[in-house]
Amino acid sequence: MIIVLKRDATQEVIDHVVEKIKSTGLAVHISKGKERTIIGAIGDETLLSQISLEALPGVENVMPILKPYKLVSREFSKEGTVIDLQGVCIGDTAIQVIAGPCSVESKDSLIDCAKKVQAAGASILRGGAFKPRTSPYDFQGLGVEGLKLLAEAKKATGLPIISELMDPRDTEVICEYVDIIQIGARNMQNFRLLTEVGKAKKPVLLKRGLSATIKEFLMSAEYIAAQGNGNIILCERGIRTFETATRNTLDLSAVPVLKEETHLPIFIDPSHAVGRWNLVAPLAKAAIAVGADGLMIEVHPDPENALCDGAQSLKPSKFAILMEEMKKVAISVGRTL
Ligand code: PEP
Ligand code: MN
Repeated sequence: MIIVLKRDATQEVIDHVVEKIKSTGLAVHISKGKERTIIGAIGDETLLSQISLEALPGVENVMPILKPYKLVSREFSKEGTVIDLQGVCIGDTAIQVIAGPCSVESKDSLIDCAKKVQAAGASILRGGAFKPRTSPYDFQGLGVEGLKLLAEAKKATGLPIISELMDPRDTEVICEYVDIIQIGARNMQNFRLLTEVGKAKKPVLLKRGLSATIKEFLMSAEYIAAQGNGNIILCERGIRTFETATRNTLDLSAVPVLKEETHLPIFIDPSHAVGRWNLVAPLAKAAIAVGADGLMIEVHPDPENALCDGAQSLKPSKFAILMEEMKKVAISVGRTL
């Protein structure tokens, strides 16, 4: 149920409504928009019949949320969520670009890469420390050592950092180092993990599962939001189809569909979608054209010798050219980059 409060509702009035809802046993989620406060009452809605919400002071409107995803639904908030990451605003007019290597390999190559992507205009640095590899014999990442190197790259550049969390047991350590927690495609329906990051105090970038529908994707985001963490970025990264010409099939239509369904920011990762560096640029530009709020792009100073995903990684010089091209597309759709 959504409870829309009157524009002039004071904190005292808000607290009173919250207390009333909680007294029925339902959980409460408060969303303070620019214009007004909206309260989400989550749980068994029949319990709300014990109180007459409409009659409470400050309440303007009470509406059921018809979608199975509640807190992340567009019905819950008409205004888009903006995540402010030390001044880097995600979900606002400016498109944000996350760039960096697939995995953290060494201090020198990471800092070199960080400086180059920053010079090209990227606003967030990526780098995997815990890697979800298909083969157990492939490079699995540097673990905590990789997180420490990311922190050094952040110190050298000031760029906020994102890295993937695979195991709930690593939540605390990852939160110590990263600014955004990444949940990878393979873990989109790892509900224990989603619950864990829902309790964390860091924004979460949730990647769409390899074979997940948009509804399943949103239900996974709901798991995170239901624990109190509403700072969620959704990232489309290609889905499994019959097509084998590309690593996955980038579902560009997911962007406008998700824009209708949710107020959360939407990113596109063209690198994991196509799997080949020369196809990254056209899809990155298309992503901006269809309304994505940001991109995640793999960049490596020496892709030929990368320990992971070299074939889809852009050299920093190619990335810089792409950024210039993307700026033009962004302007043409009323965005900045
Ligand atoms: C990644 O971003 O490093 C990654 C493994 O991506 P995905 O989970 O989309 O495969
Ligand atoms: Mn990768």
